[in-house]
Amino acid sequence: MDREGFRIMEVNLTSGKATIVRVKGRDKAIGGSGLCAMLFEQRGFTNRPWDHADQPLIFAIGPLTGYFPLMSKTVCAFKSPYHDQYTESHAGGRSAISLRFSGLDAIVIKGRAKRPSLLVVGSRTVEIIDAHFLWGMDVIRSGRIIRHMVDRSHGHRSILRIGPAGENLSAMACINADTYRHFGRLGAGAVMGSKNLKAIAILGDSSLPLPKDQKPYRAVWKKVFQDVQKSGMMHKYHNLGTPANLMRLNELKSLPWRNLQATFDEEAERISGEAFANDHLLRNLACSGCPVGCIHVGFIREKFMEDHRYYYLQMAYDYEPIFAVGSMLGMKEPVSVLKLIEKTDRMGLDVISAGVALAWATEALERAVISTKETICKLSFGDVHCYLEAVEHLAKGKNNFYRLLGQGTMTAAEEYGGQDFACVLGQEMAGYATGELFFTAQSLGFRHSHLDTAAYSYEQKHGEKDLEKAIDFLLSDELPRCLLNSMVACLFSRKVYTKERLKECLSSLGYEELAENLDDLARHIRASRWRLRFQTGFDPENVSIPRRFFKVRSWKGPVDPDYLNRLKKAYGEELKKIALSKSD
Ligand code: SF4
Repeated sequence: MDREGFRIMEVNLTSGKATIVRVKGRDKAIGGSGLCAMLFEQRGFTNRPWDHADQPLIFAIGPLTGYFPLMSKTVCAFKSPYHDQYTESHAGGRSAISLRFSGLDAIVIKGRAKRPSLLVVGSRTVEIIDAHFLWGMDVIRSGRIIRHMVDRSHGHRSILRIGPAGENLSAMACINADTYRHFGRLGAGAVMGSKNLKAIAILGDSSLPLPKDQKPYRAVWKKVFQDVQKSGMMHKYHNLGTPANLMRLNELKSLPWRNLQATFDEEAERISGEAFANDHLLRNLACSGCPVGCIHVGFIREKFMEDHRYYYLQMAYDYEPIFAVGSMLGMKEPVSVLKLIEKTDRMGLDVISAGVALAWATEALERAVISTKETICKLSFGDVHCYLEAVEHLAKGKNNFYRLLGQGTMTAAEEYGGQDFACVLGQEMAGYATGELFFTAQSLGFRHSHLDTAAYSYEQKHGEKDLEKAIDFLLSDELPRCLLNSMVACLFSRKVYTKERLKECLSSLGYEELAENLDDLARHIRASRWRLRFQTGFDPENVSIPRRFFKVRSWKGPVDPDYLNRLKKAYGEELKKIALSKSD
């Protein structure tokens, strides 16, 4: 283990060369999110477009990856095709543990391959393999073939790949990680597509060095495991999982239905967590190194008419996909929701972005803002068949309309009209119509994600309009997340990995200096990330919140436009200060 620096593999797809370099800076960047920002500052170009061959695509893990439970995520950093600004996307699966077992802290990929390629990375290997025959293939089929092509490690192999959406440079294209996890939002898949990179196989073919003095390490590990058990995570996330949120949000009048034309539906129970678990849950899976196992794999049985045989389709479901291709599209049958999740995943599209985009297209069609000349099929809330077809059009950029929609709902709305009812908060909304604070938080959040802060949760408990308290919450909640994203932990474990516990974990592995400076490091990393966002074009004043959000009625009553505007202004000003702060 390198306590002071990082072991980075740099790959140039244009020249076909790869090198391993030692990079100093552990004392400032920690790993994960902090490491990505540092590497992008050193190797990226704030003033060149996202698809410039010299722009890096970075995957990084943290110092605790592989050593402690739930330290199971990888941070992917890139300049986003969605807004051409610096961003991150996180995923688990086996990606993090495979990187750790390859002896790497990060992979930095630059250049553009001459032909569609598969990059294979291991502790003693790096190969760029011609994979033109995989181009055009969906992620399930290509995953199956790549597993045979790279059949040489045991247990720690991770396969990241893109589908047609990434190949077609859709800003909603994700990178599929080991079938059931995704680097989902803001178009990481298109960055791979622009580099002619169909897939990356990380072999994880080395061993994990344990600390010399194992006693303290074992003691802290035990405490962490007990905390995970006590936290209720093993029940809450394992049993029903995040779909349990659906009924609560519906009762709070905060569940977006039919392009956010409503926040409550009498029949929500039909797509509740229980409905999925009772009839469609096949098994639970876990990211490597996680004892919780929150990944719910559902199944549906399909009869294929040509040969009269039955096939099982499997797909991972969670609250967010159920909202995006369920309530948002007026879907009330779990089978329909699962079919849509499966198809969207297969195409390599981010499910949240795709569902919300198609919800806007449906309303735009209903209002005659667009016609079936644009949508090709007659989109209609609740009609799964038209959406299954539309998902494919969206991924493949079938016509000008779908190509524009694939660049973002607002991009299409600017061309065709209907901006007022585009459910976009920086990017397509996440499934929380809780009110002013969440709308502000997602619009201006670093990743435009519900995971940037827990605003959605805060707002379910706080009905008061206290601007100062709300902004304090957003600012203070982001800091520990910067640390967790640098370690890199699953954010479900945020109550387990308190600052004190992180200090113990780091010290037990010999990172005493990091353990001593966590507050300063969190501020430094947060400032570095925001600096890059602003340098690549982010300006809070240019982010507008569409009128639809001002019409929402949640459990707190109607949205207060004045409060929403004041929150947005105040938070934007604070973010500017952070980006300008001298954190070094
Ligand atoms: S809780 Fe779920 S998402 Fe988090 S690491 Fe475990 S399996 Fe992965």
